[in-house]
Amino acid sequence: MKKITIAIDGLSSCGKSTMAKELAKAIGYIYVDTGAMYRAVTLFALRHDIFNADGSVQLEKLKEMMPQIGVSFKLNSLTGRPETYLNSENVEQEIRSMEVSSHVSPIAAIDFVRTALVAQQQQMGKEKGIVMDGRDIGTVVFPDAELKIYVTADAEVRAQRRFEELKEKGQPADFNTILKNVQERDYIDSHREVSPLRKADDALELDNSHLTIAQQNAWLKEHYLQAVKE
Ligand code: C5P
Repeated sequence: MKKITIAIDGLSSCGKSTMAKELAKAIGYIYVDTGAMYRAVTLFALRHDIFNADGSVQLEKLKEMMPQIGVSFKLNSLTGRPETYLNSENVEQEIRSMEVSSHVSPIAAIDFVRTALVAQQQQMGKEKGIVMDGRDIGTVVFPDAELKIYVTADAEVRAQRRFEELKEKGQPADFNTILKNVQERDYIDSHREVSPLRKADDALELDNSHLTIAQQNAWLKEHYLQAVKE
């Protein structure tokens, strides 16, 4: 069967990565969570005091330190899932904290950060056979992807899902704080100057507010099968 590129974009915490991971596993494709890459850079910035007290970023300092930031993925042989590394450290858990979530959108709005990460993402996908999720995959990273999906869901539904996920992992979580974070990220991600979140003209839209995980996985698989036939 021919190998294609699958781009999945959409709002924060709308289950993109759940469906992207599942499909990649089922069809033997590489899965790349580009949000994790922006999160890893954010974690580095937090650790190196690159944020000012008002939440703005010290751009010159970050720019200077960019060559020291290596983000990569390694497969966890027990779970069969890729995990995120910041240089040689596994940061898969730490990058999902509320502290990183509430600082990531300003980092992702910086042009030199995006240029560096987009180049790395394009390199990862040059052989096709990849499922990549993020905000600008179908519009900027792989504008020629054979299958593009744009996922949305109600903000309350997304906050509830993230709340349950954090609780399950034993991480502190407050529903209203999460809802506010989800809404703020939606706003910053879709209003930033560089590569704002938007649906690519040729993307298929999925509102999964009222779908189960199994239903959304089935929906995606069906569109994948159609795309490889074309
Ligand atoms: O997908 P996730 O919520 O983990 O992404 C974290 C943040 O990274 C998003 O809120 C967004 O600001 C940024 N992001 C981005 N472009 C991508 C992926 C994520 O700007 N391709």
